[in-house]
Amino acid sequence: MLEAKSLQKNFGDVTAVDGITFKINKGEIMGLIGQNGAGKTTTFRMILDLLTPDQGEVLWKGKKLTNKVFNQIGYLPEERGLYPKVSIEDQILYFAQLRGKSKKEIKPLIDDWLEKFDVKGKRGDKVKTLSKGNQQKVQLITTLIHQPELIILDEPFSGLDPVNAELLESGIREAQANGASIIFSSHNMNNVEELCDSLIMLRDGNQILNGTVKEIREKFGRTKLFLESS
Ligand code: ATP
Repeated sequence: MLEAKSLQKNFGDVTAVDGITFKINKGEIMGLIGQNGAGKTTTFRMILDLLTPDQGEVLWKGKKLTNKVFNQIGYLPEERGLYPKVSIEDQILYFAQLRGKSKKEIKPLIDDWLEKFDVKGKRGDKVKTLSKGNQQKVQLITTLIHQPELIILDEPFSGLDPVNAELLESGIREAQANGASIIFSSHNMNNVEELCDSLIMLRDGNQILNGTVKEIREKFGRTKLFLESS
């Protein structure tokens, strides 16, 4: 489904990403882990064709991925981008329209999604009146509601308490069950180990680990222990 081949990106003297290679199939979840500055966001931006790699390429269904397929993609960027003075409903409709959906298609879905993420009853509220966590959940809804085939989430768990993290996990699992391929970055090893089929670990732009969670467990014993000691 999605394939990244030897991606590399430099910013002046800094090599932000140095040779990332992976494949992700339909219905698979991949975790991207690494410390601050490891190259996770740069990797996502290259996958999404928002940044041009200095080397390597990204294939989506066997063809070079360009921004023409954006309607099939859901992206939660690291720098969240909601409009504070707009209502939740209008916000969701606006982003869905950017992804080629009509208001008519999306409107009937909104209440269910708000309920799923426990922000029911706030449909008409302006975004700025919501807590940070609730804003995060609204942005997740804008990322998922058009049922993308590829979902890329940059630190989706950051800022969510354990109860809301569980809601997000359910949302990710549901998207997987509907056939989406999902990549997300996280500092929380629990989320990665529990949710992912495969994972990549980055350190200073280098891919120091790439495999299925099962393979990594077999190789290193408990994944968590390996990750914590690495
Ligand atoms: P974090 O968890 O802190 O968001 P990250 O793993 O997402 O980190 P990136 O944001 O991809 O890491 O950054 C990787 C490296 O590339 C860092 O050294 C960063 O300073 C550098 N970098 C990223 N974007 C740019 C840019 N536009 N110009 C210059 N350097 C950049």
